[in-house]
Amino acid sequence: MKLKAFLLSLPLLVTSTVALSDELNIYSARKEALIKPLLDKFSEEHNIKVNLVTGKADALLTRMQSEGEFSPADIILTTDVGRLERAREMGLTTPVESAVLNQHIAENLRHRDGHWYALTIRARPIMYHPERVNPEELSGILELAGNTWKNRICIRSSGNIYNQSMIAAMMVKYDEKVVQDWASGFVKNFARKPKGGDRDQIKAVVAGECDIAIANTYYLGGMLADSNKANADIAKQLKVFWPDQEGEGTHINVSGIAAAKHAPNAKNAKLLMEYMISEESQRWYAETNHEYPVRDGVATSELLQGFGDFKAEQVPMAKVGELNKAAVKLMDKAGWK
Ligand code: FE
Repeated sequence: MKLKAFLLSLPLLVTSTVALSDELNIYSARKEALIKPLLDKFSEEHNIKVNLVTGKADALLTRMQSEGEFSPADIILTTDVGRLERAREMGLTTPVESAVLNQHIAENLRHRDGHWYALTIRARPIMYHPERVNPEELSGILELAGNTWKNRICIRSSGNIYNQSMIAAMMVKYDEKVVQDWASGFVKNFARKPKGGDRDQIKAVVAGECDIAIANTYYLGGMLADSNKANADIAKQLKVFWPDQEGEGTHINVSGIAAAKHAPNAKNAKLLMEYMISEESQRWYAETNHEYPVRDGVATSELLQGFGDFKAEQVPMAKVGELNKAAVKLMDKAGWK
């Protein structure tokens, strides 16, 4: 009887050997170097072969859409809630239920049905040149529409999703009319026609083209940590000001993860999502990307600690994603190029 039971279990053993060559296909808008070591570790610990495809976020989403139900993608890794919501609206994601994810990711930083989860937080504060700006002049983002800031502000274009999400978050916090009027005044204070990325705004402040820039924290962090000394020297000249600390808190966004609608390896997808929220992964992932860990109790990197503590806005991220189109319209109306 015992032998029979043993023999019966043999096919199972064979099956589990096959399962050892399990795979997981990731479409990532994050560059390989900023994710690969963590995926290698996951791969080794779980005996799952990870295939990584990297590219620009919107291109990856379009690719998934055209692949349809034959898409090999199991996981989407991207930045900005605007894009996570875009992926959901395009029907590319599937809900994942996980007590682990729900426990460690604050409610406003995940989709209510589990269509996506935040993995890191990035903030979008004001960066200023201390020789030209007295921080006492600064308070909130709304105040940047005032006359004092004429020709002093650098920020990238309205086509950029970080700005779109920033405006969408304002539309959650304030009346639309308030945001619309503000945007018109704010745009009039631009020192130049928007061009380049966040790093270019930082450089423009140091070059004297403007006095303040609005940029994501990890750009300044990345420049400070850059082995190219010229970039580090530029970044060192700017200071971070956390706006709206008396009010709603500074605007934040997230990088996140979602399981693909037609994931051929759904079980492994959930396994990776939970792996990414472990304390160890959070520390590595946040620090490598110069972002803030989303999980409570995980220390922020020393470099980011140098920018000081701040109060973050408590806006539901999903709402920010949903308001993307309305935000684009508002910016357009304000003449934000
Ligand atoms: Fe970025």
